[in-house]
Amino acid sequence: MVNTSIKTTKSQEIFAAAQNLMPGGVSSPVRAFKSVGGQPIVFDRVKGAYIWDVDGNQYIDYVGTWGPAICGHAHPEVIAALQAALEKGTSFGAPCALENVLAEMVIAAVPSIEMVRFVNSGTEACMAVLRLIRAFTKREKVIKFEGCYHGHADMFLVKAGSGVATLGLPDSPGVPKSVTSNTLTAPYNDLSAVKALFEANPDEIAGVILEPVVGNAGFITPDTGFLQGLRELTKEHGALLVFDEVMTGFRIAYGGAQEKFGVTPDLTTLGKIIGGGLPVGAYGGRQDIMSMVAPAGPMYQAGTLSGNPLAMTAGIKTLELLQKPGTYEYLDKITKQLADGLLVIAKETGNEACGGQISAMFGMFFAPGPVHNYEDAKKADANKFGRFHRGMLERGVYLAPSQFEAGFTSFAHTEADIEKTLQAAREVMSSL
Ligand SMILES: *Cc1c(COP(=O)(O)O)cnc(C)c1O
Repeated sequence: MVNTSIKTTKSQEIFAAAQNLMPGGVSSPVRAFKSVGGQPIVFDRVKGAYIWDVDGNQYIDYVGTWGPAICGHAHPEVIAALQAALEKGTSFGAPCALENVLAEMVIAAVPSIEMVRFVNSGTEACMAVLRLIRAFTKREKVIKFEGCYHGHADMFLVKAGSGVATLGLPDSPGVPKSVTSNTLTAPYNDLSAVKALFEANPDEIAGVILEPVVGNAGFITPDTGFLQGLRELTKEHGALLVFDEVMTGFRIAYGGAQEKFGVTPDLTTLGKIIGGGLPVGAYGGRQDIMSMVAPAGPMYQAGTLSGNPLAMTAGIKTLELLQKPGTYEYLDKITKQLADGLLVIAKETGNEACGGQISAMFGMFFAPGPVHNYEDAKKADANKFGRFHRGMLERGVYLAPSQFEAGFTSFAHTEADIEKTLQAAREVMSSL
């Protein structure tokens, strides 16, 4: 038996003090470990595939700061580029050549994007894209899917995923009914439900927004024909299709889920990886639609720190690193080794489980499966996941502290890291 008791005294002290300073002791809810029990660890530093906490414990990390760290944390080339950029100042609030560089890279990579606007977070990107589809179509209703998360803007806090799902919250107080009355919802992977909404609301629906592969209700893949079906339905009804690729962009493939599945939306939101660990979001798409954005057009959207040179630099360097030949093949290989390994171990240890991966994104539910939507995901054994999470943490593996979050790998993860992780999983699952 390995000694699984880790010392986390300093983490506990810091988190206890944080309770009085910030709501729940955190700056973002899922970090508080509410759904898995126990206390969060407080990070001291990160490097490559690893995290060190303030007590000096080391962990293999499968959260990757919720997605951005696809090159591994604090990649030396990203850090060096940032250090050089720092010397020239942190924010200009004026045009900067680096914006052109990142914009060209994003336009070249993502099939739907002909023109792009940079913002500071995924939330901002999704808020703006919603305003844009309404401005362009002169319609107000939108369709989103249960369990999909598009940031915390009012009109998306209807049957939302991520922390809203993790904490089991109803739609948030403080959101006016008048705002969400135009947000229609359907179960993920249910084309007939979407069709029914279009028929019940003729000429009123501006567009459909979704995570083309869900990561915020756990990892859920689109059924064959679902994305294509949405493409056809939106076209047929004069509505726009928006892929929220804040998580999947540059992760599922260099060109995102739209490249992987060969379905091109009208507009796309990005974030996470394109900021290389700094705060960035972006929305982009067809030139005729993007031309509505101010100052080219009348739809207003702005930002003091948008397009700042530090965030652009981290994004550019991260995308450059991802362009190296073999990157996505490697990510797919190690992530498959992990996801398949977890399912085999679950089976051998008598735990019902289902899951999978695409490229560097993976997930597992303690449920017989298959999981097609949020209703299915909710049937998974959350209590068991909590015990699994704690056991893994004690063995030096940091998983997302919620069954409603996908896992992420980076090209800094080695086969040895995966082997160690699977060894830990075998020990933990044997005693669940
Ligand atoms: C993370 C995420 C967001 C929100 O991005 P923030 O940068 O956290 O505001 C939106 N959509 C999806 C799909 C995400 O995964």
